[in-house]
Amino acid sequence: MTGDQNRVAALVVAAGRGTRANDQSTSVPKQYRVVGGRPVIRWTLDALTANPRIGTVICVVHPDDEALYHEAAPDNGKLLAPVPGGASRQESVRLGLERLGDRTPDIVLVHDAVRPFVDDALIDRLLERLLTVEAAVPGLPVTDTVKRADPDGTIQETVPRSGLWTVQTPQAFRYTALLDAHRRAAQDDPERFTDDASIAEWAGLAVAIVPGDPMNRKLTTVADIADADRLLGDSTETPMETRVGSGYDVHRFGPGDFVTLGGVEIPHDHGLVGHSDADVGLHVLTDAILGALADGDIGSHFPPSDPAFKGMASDVFLRHAVQRVDARGGRILHLDLTLVCERPKIGPHRDAMRARIAEIAGLPLDRVAVKATTTEGLGFTGRGEGIAASATATLSLPAPGAAGTT
Ligand code: MG
Repeated sequence: MTGDQNRVAALVVAAGRGTRANDQSTSVPKQYRVVGGRPVIRWTLDALTANPRIGTVICVVHPDDEALYHEAAPDNGKLLAPVPGGASRQESVRLGLERLGDRTPDIVLVHDAVRPFVDDALIDRLLERLLTVEAAVPGLPVTDTVKRADPDGTIQETVPRSGLWTVQTPQAFRYTALLDAHRRAAQDDPERFTDDASIAEWAGLAVAIVPGDPMNRKLTTVADIADADRLLGDSTETPMETRVGSGYDVHRFGPGDFVTLGGVEIPHDHGLVGHSDADVGLHVLTDAILGALADGDIGSHFPPSDPAFKGMASDVFLRHAVQRVDARGGRILHLDLTLVCERPKIGPHRDAMRARIAEIAGLPLDRVAVKATTTEGLGFTGRGEGIAASATATLSLPAPGAAGTT
């Protein structure tokens, strides 16, 4: 089939700046959104350049998106330099067709960048049909009942669906016939047509429908992007879920001249009483992680009745909890600790605690938060009888039922 390589060109329309698929978290046009680890347009261009019957691929891009395009585009000899698009889809396609002029392909396939699921079988059906007609488009028969409604949503009529089709891209044309139709349409109205089949019809060409592919969807909404991400993602990758656990603990003040909090020794006029070093901060972080794992609590892993843990530095407890996460194939996304006391003042030691906790848990500093509050003199913390602490741990864990989990 290498004989027809130079005959068939694909023109990919990526000049739109559609925002329906964008949520507030990004302003990236949907053709450049990453699904299954690659930009949408990359999947599309990879599918087209890999097709043995297509010899040339050219993309029409929005002038503001050239950097995004160059980052996304594959390094492939079939891919020509991109063409800046025009003010409408119709004009963008015409500009792309004009640029293909020096190659004069016999056939051009016009395709939307946001249909990454195009496959070889569909392209074969189009090229086959084009042996006997001037234009061919993939279509799916309308199976839902179709209504026409007025602007306030009141149904005016039920449209007979017999003979109705929704059409997809790629749409296949004899190159010179489509270019001629586009040039004439541009004289008439450069913004009138929303697909190339309608320009061909307007120009009097016979356009045939071939069976489309239900999988060959156009990514339009946020849900479409999420679906595509799932479908194109590495299916061997374990599905993960997010879990949040909490911990709470209190230790009373007793004799001493320092307290250990968040793994840091802080001079104070009292110590904290406990079986271990009484580091209430590391205790609640340990419990928060065990809570997210639904794996007991610090007391069930390190019974206070066991003399082995007497006076033990509490980083051992936190390390143990972190290892339990590792053993489950998970990872800690975030740790958030709140210490409640009037004194000692936590502020001056906050960064040292964050650094120590991050070190023990093997996390970057920006995934560890330490906060402090007083209780306005109220209650046992207000009276300076002890220190309370709470924490949350956010974990990413293999979802139950995922491969390799029980
Ligand atoms: Mg404790």
